[in-house]
Amino acid sequence: MNWLRLENLEAADPIVIKDSDGRVAEVQVPCVSTLGAVPACCLGVAMKRRDKRVIKIRDRRLEPAPTWLHIKVQRWVCPNCGRIKNEAIDHIHPDHRITQRLFEDLTFAAVKRPFEDAANLNAVEVTLVKRVFDAVAEEKLSDYRFVAPRVLGVDEKWLRKRPRWVAYDVENGFALELLQGRDEPTVRSLLNQVDNPFDVEVFCQDMHWPYAHLAQEFFPDATVVIDKFHVVKMANEAMDEVRKAVQKKLQGDVVLRVSNRRRLFLRRWEDLSREGQDVLAELLALDDRLKLGYTWKEKFFDIFELPTRRDAEQAWMRWLMDMPSSIKSFFNAIRWNMKTWGPLIFNYFDHRYTSGKVENFNGLLDRMNLMGYGYTFPQLRAKALLKYGNLIPKADLRMFMQEHDGALAALLGPDLDERAMLEDRVEGTGWYTLGSGIPMAQWVADLEARSF
Ligand SMILES: [Zn+2]
Repeated sequence: MNWLRLENLEAADPIVIKDSDGRVAEVQVPCVSTLGAVPACCLGVAMKRRDKRVIKIRDRRLEPAPTWLHIKVQRWVCPNCGRIKNEAIDHIHPDHRITQRLFEDLTFAAVKRPFEDAANLNAVEVTLVKRVFDAVAEEKLSDYRFVAPRVLGVDEKWLRKRPRWVAYDVENGFALELLQGRDEPTVRSLLNQVDNPFDVEVFCQDMHWPYAHLAQEFFPDATVVIDKFHVVKMANEAMDEVRKAVQKKLQGDVVLRVSNRRRLFLRRWEDLSREGQDVLAELLALDDRLKLGYTWKEKFFDIFELPTRRDAEQAWMRWLMDMPSSIKSFFNAIRWNMKTWGPLIFNYFDHRYTSGKVENFNGLLDRMNLMGYGYTFPQLRAKALLKYGNLIPKADLRMFMQEHDGALAALLGPDLDERAMLEDRVEGTGWYTLGSGIPMAQWVADLEARSF
């Protein structure tokens, strides 16, 4: 083997091309194949030599500049049917005009580093990194599935002003799946793939109406808990409506004073500094509805800090009964949702799970776009899963199962016959890539450090 370290390719000395400033712009490596096999066509008829031609294939960089193999290939023609084909060359990726080893380098770098860094490191264009990454993601994740956790949460996240859908392991703060949309068929088909529905003891969801029956259908044994985060958020939304209505009636420069301080109305009283409390008290004194709205907002938050379900249910009834008529209409959404989802909302007091841990996600993903990562949504999902997901590819799943005797059955639920499954999978139909999900804290830290 020669210095190029590619078997069956004979390389001449590299030609270094420099730009007008004397910097290396490109490296060309003239090569020929030494395989020399005569291909056959038409029931074994040997093909005849035709002309030669140079094909350009991108390879691992020699200098910090794009490096191309200029491979002189023999062209062959069939004396029978006239078909022309190139001599077969080893080491070239079948779908990209790059060597197999460069493909592997790029795959590794694209998962490990920001695309821009991966491109610079390998002296290729970002578009090539993305193309390789997309191909790898497609191959490795086309059949990705997660193991359902004890506490499964589902939630909408906003990214680029569009609602996305996230399934997560609430107890451990892992995102298990991110969907591009939140429409019911998409969500349904995802939940349909869960192999161990009976392991889900608690199902956390928001109050999105189309999902009302999903839990019952897919996780009949689970207790449904409406995420407290979404419940208390309604009180802030009501407060904001009160503030807007009052603001319309105000005159002069107080309008601006209220509007400038609109975020203050959404804070909890005890979280404000003395200074903040003072400013807010002055603003609330401007209009009775502001004061009442704020009080009822605070009281609503308080309900969810009570020690028992019974306390909370009683406090809720008092909240409802005592509400002054002047602010009632602003709190309609709460009244309606509490009536509709009440028992599931109060389930929080028996199973205190909330998506608080993953909530900073919303803002984070938007900030990330601004910082110029430039990932598409599918790339973002695929990269996180490939980077952190501890994927067990389908090819290895059988070995994994043999090594962890019975572990997979335990993982996938006691009702599945492991042996029947093994046979089914050996036939090649049922295997899939299994993953543990994305540790949110780690992901957030990497995103903020710009190392994702
Ligand atoms: Zn032929």
